[in-house]
Order: sequence, then C-alpha cells, then structure tokens
Amino acid sequence: MSRKHTHKTSLKEYLSTYNFTKTSNIRKEKGKLYLPNVYCHNGHRLITSEELFDGFKAIKILAIQETGGRYIYYVSPIINDPRLIGPDLPDKTPLKLCCPTCHEELQPLIPCTCRPGAMRRALFLTPKGKKSSAVGVCDTYGCPHSFVIDEGEIVYEVVEEK
Ligand SMILES: [Zn+2]
Ligand SMILES: [Zn+2]
Repeated sequence: MSRKHTHKTSLKEYLSTYNFTKTSNIRKEKGKLYLPNVYCHNGHRLITSEELFDGFKAIKILAIQETGGRYIYYVSPIINDPRLIGPDLPDKTPLKLCCPTCHEELQPLIPCTCRPGAMRRALFLTPKGKKSSAVGVCDTYGCPHSFVIDEGEIVYEVVEEK
C-alpha cells in the first residue's frame, strides 16, 4: 500500500488499446483512470462511498499488523494516485490486508521486491474472483508497487522511480 507523501512513481502502460467503456473494469473519466468496482475473493464489494477521492468512491481495506493493531484504510481507486486515508505507520511495516466484510486475508498474486516476504495481494475487478482481472497491491506500508491486470493482460503498473 502506498501512502500520502510517497516516493516518486511512474505509471507504465502496457496495453494502449484498452477499450474504456461505461461498464469496463477500468474506466476513464475526467482525465483520470480509476477502478469502479473491486472485490475480495468471496465477492464482497470493497468500494465504498464512506470516503471519496476526487469524487470517486474509495477502496476500503482492513489491515492487521503483526503486533495485533487493526486499522481501516481508504485507498484511492485512481490508478497511480498514492493517497490513502488511515493511520500513519513506519515505512515497510508488514501488514495483513483483509476484506472488511469477511475479515479473510486477500489472496496472494505475486511477490514484491520491497522486502523479503512481501506479497502483492488481489483486489478482484469482478465478483467472480478471477486472477486474470485483478489489482495487485503490496502488503507493505509505504510501498507504491502495484499493477492492474484485466482479461489476463497487464494493463498498468506503478513503479518507483530510482
Ligand atoms: Zn470478503
Ligand atoms: Zn512492496
């Protein structure tokens, strides 16, 4: 998960022919790319109007620290937007990212290079929970590395600039 004042990142676009529509899993509006719907592996909707980012509904995640701390984070649904609402933690704090409804840990997608054991966890773009359409979010506080895959193709990746 990223954080408010994060490192410089850049957005890589791998699929320039992505077909943005009013019902596509990734949407374009007001010049912004955003995710209108994301779900846990049990089909619970993680998008909420409890917080908004530039008018777009936030992604709500329950994060549990090894020491037992439980926090709610609202993450921006806009791609390559590091904003999030929630408690500040030290950089590189490992977190267990969970669904706020079923409290189950989000499923692993691919490891992240930011620390040993870091894993990018799945926010699915459809309620069916298919790994071919998902967002991968790192389970390390302060890590901006994320990607969006749709229909099996990587569409976007957020990378840290060296
Ligand atoms: Zn759930
Ligand atoms: Zn990471």
